[in-house]
Amino acid sequence: MFSYRHAFHAGSHADILKHLTLIHLVQYLQEKPGALTMVDTHAGAGIYSLQDGFSTISKEADGGIFRLTQYVETCRRANTPIPESILEYLKFINAENVDGQLTTYPGSPFILARLLRPQDRLKLFELHPKEIDILRHNIGELKQSKQIDIYAEDSFSRLKGLLPPPSRRGLVLIDPSYEDKQDYRYLEGAMEEALQRFATGCYAIWYPVISRRESIALPDRLKKIAATHKRSWLHTELRVENAPGERRLQSSGMFIINPPWTLEKHLAQALPTLTKALGINGGGQFLLKSFEAKN
Ligand code: SAM
Repeated sequence: MFSYRHAFHAGSHADILKHLTLIHLVQYLQEKPGALTMVDTHAGAGIYSLQDGFSTISKEADGGIFRLTQYVETCRRANTPIPESILEYLKFINAENVDGQLTTYPGSPFILARLLRPQDRLKLFELHPKEIDILRHNIGELKQSKQIDIYAEDSFSRLKGLLPPPSRRGLVLIDPSYEDKQDYRYLEGAMEEALQRFATGCYAIWYPVISRRESIALPDRLKKIAATHKRSWLHTELRVENAPGERRLQSSGMFIINPPWTLEKHLAQALPTLTKALGINGGGQFLLKSFEAKN
């Protein structure tokens, strides 16, 4: 427990899939003026340096955000169109790098904070004793900090206490580290409770695609939970490499319950370019499936 530090993974291909999806979910939900409550159940430190610290040891951003921005630059020079969905995502990354150098990568708390309108609220959970201090410090620097609550608590057991939000409009990002394989079970339990209390909320779950029994089973288990509650879902995965035996993370997925109708088109636009930009030795692949529940 507590050996996971997200700085090692900041700006990786998995962060790109997660954050590109997240931005679209918020922007869709903000098409209506009603207050939106956003919950990030596994916040991490909030924002990360790409030029020193853990990220420079793992170098995961090299195969992620650095690779993507280089690809986009090559496309620009060749006048090759870049999908709007990717440009929209990059706007948020560039906004944290105002001098034009890519030295900083925003995590989900910063991306969500930057999207807050005056009527919206953001709730962040983080359990790691060091990460929570860094998160509090980082969030304290933001002008939106008064709209943000930070909880040093176990989000799997506390999420239900925040649901439904007062305005009954809510987005929940669930992004565990899966350091503890019990996380898969806790996640399923938290989702069951969340849907019982707030069936119409939008839930975005990230997971690693790895050869662990619990990880392989997760999408089907989430489909079952969605079916029990008669909820629509969207399931996507982005693979950048297909090298059996390789230890680094090669693929990750997002499972969205109650996705906006626009999300599938948004991802269908981005994913072919992401597989080209990030794929290693022709290993780039994606999956995109959805199901619409009849209520
Ligand atoms: N969502 C972040 C982002 O996209 O920038 C990354 C979060 S990282 C994958 C997962 C974080 O969850 C870690 O910082 C870990 O300490 C924290 N964590 C693990 N178990 C937790 C729990 N039960 N409740 C709250 N936070 C937890």
